[in-house]
Amino acid sequence: MIPAEIIEKKRDGKHLNPNEIKWFINNVVNNKIDTSQLSALLMAIYFQGMNDDEMFSLVDAMVNSGEKFNFRHINKYIADKHSTGGVGDKISLILAPILSSLGIAVPMIAGRGLAFTGGTIDKLESIPNFQTSLSMDTFNKQIKNIGCTISSQSDKICPADKILYATRDITGTVPSLPLICSSIMSKKIAEDLDGLVIDLKVGSGAFMKTLREAKILGSGLKKIGKAFNIDTEIVYTNMNQPLGNYAGLRCEILESIDCLNGNGPSDLMEITLELGSKILMQSKIAKNNQMAIDVMLDSIENKSALNKFLDIISSQGGDINALIEEKITKNNSIVIRSKDSGFISSFKTDEIGWALVEIGAGRKKENDKIDYLAGIEFLNKVGDKVDKGEAIFRIFGKNIECLNNASIMLQEAYIITKREVCKDKLIIN
Ligand code: URA
Repeated sequence: MIPAEIIEKKRDGKHLNPNEIKWFINNVVNNKIDTSQLSALLMAIYFQGMNDDEMFSLVDAMVNSGEKFNFRHINKYIADKHSTGGVGDKISLILAPILSSLGIAVPMIAGRGLAFTGGTIDKLESIPNFQTSLSMDTFNKQIKNIGCTISSQSDKICPADKILYATRDITGTVPSLPLICSSIMSKKIAEDLDGLVIDLKVGSGAFMKTLREAKILGSGLKKIGKAFNIDTEIVYTNMNQPLGNYAGLRCEILESIDCLNGNGPSDLMEITLELGSKILMQSKIAKNNQMAIDVMLDSIENKSALNKFLDIISSQGGDINALIEEKITKNNSIVIRSKDSGFISSFKTDEIGWALVEIGAGRKKENDKIDYLAGIEFLNKVGDKVDKGEAIFRIFGKNIECLNNASIMLQEAYIITKREVCKDKLIIN
C-alpha cells in the first residue's frame, strides 16, 4: 500500500477499509510512515470524520499495536471509570478504592494533566516515592493481590495512541470526535474490562462546553464500548465550577482521603456515588441505585475503602505518612477577595485551571517541573452570598511571582450578581 493514496482517499471524503487503517497504523508504530504523513491523515480525519466501521477499525488497530491485559483468570468483575477531564476532579482517587473494596477489580490507566484540566497521575506523584509507571508484570500482580492499580499508560499499551496523541497535540487535530473516542476507548479495551463508567464533563471547566457536543461524544464512546463488548455507561456531569474544596496536586490527595474518611464535600460525593452505582449495578453487586449507594457508604463508614486506598499507595511504593507530615512552611499563599457584594453566579472554570498551570500545578511545556504543593482552595462556590472583601479563593505554592500572576487571573474568574442564584444540578442526564 502507498501512504499518500490512503491520505488522498480520506482527504476526498471516501471511507477507508479495515486493511488500510491497520496497515497505516502498523507502519506508524514501526516508524515506516513519517510524522508529516501521519499529520496529513489526522487532518483529513479531522475534516472528513470517520464512519462507525472506520472508527472501530482504528480502535482495533490501536489496541493491537501493543499488548493487552488478560484478567479472565480473576474471578471478579473488571471495571474502570474514566473522566473527560475537569478542575478539582479527584473522583478516580475516591471511586477506585471504594469499588475495589467492594470486590470489583479496577485496573485503572490514568492520565496526566491536559491543557487546563488536572491529571490523576500528577496528583498521585505528589505522594513521596509513589510509582505510576508499572511493568505489565507488576500491574498484573497488583490486580491479583490488591484488586486495584492506578498507573500511567506504559509503552506497551496502545503505543499507536501515544504516537497519534503526541502528533494531534502539535497539529491542531485533538478535537476530532473519532480520534478522541478511539484514543480513550483503545486504552480501556486493552485493560480487558467488563464494564466502564465515563464521567463526561460539560461546562466551562470541561473540553465539552455544551451538552449537545458532550452527547455526540458520549454516543461515539458508547458505540465503541458495545462493539468491543464493554458495558459502557455515560454520566453527564456539570463542570461549570471546580469540584470539591481544593484543586491542585497534594491538596487533592488529602481531600480524597477526607472523602474516604466520610468528610467529603457534597458535590464530590454525589458524583462519586452516582458513577460507582453504575458499576455496582452492571456487576450485579447491587440491584438498584439506592442499594449501590448504601454499600458504598458502608465501605466508607467501615474504613474498608480508605484502607484499600492506603494499600494501593503502599503497594505502589508511596509513603502516605511522609505526604501528610510534609513540611509546607515554605509555601506562600495569597487570598483573593471579592470585589463586590452579591451572589457568585458563575466561574470561568477553565481560567481557574489555567491559574493552576500558572502556579505550577500543571505544565506549560511538556517537561516543565511541577510544584506538588501548589493549589487553590475554594472558599465560596456558585450561589453563595459574599460581601465585598470576602475571600473567594486562597492560592498556595512555592513561587510567589507565579502566585501573583495567578491571583490576577483569578480576579477575573468569578462573576457576582445582585440577584440570588440557583445552584445547577450536578448530574445532567
Ligand atoms: N483523553 C484521551 O486519552 N485521548 C483523547 O483524545 C482525549 C482525552
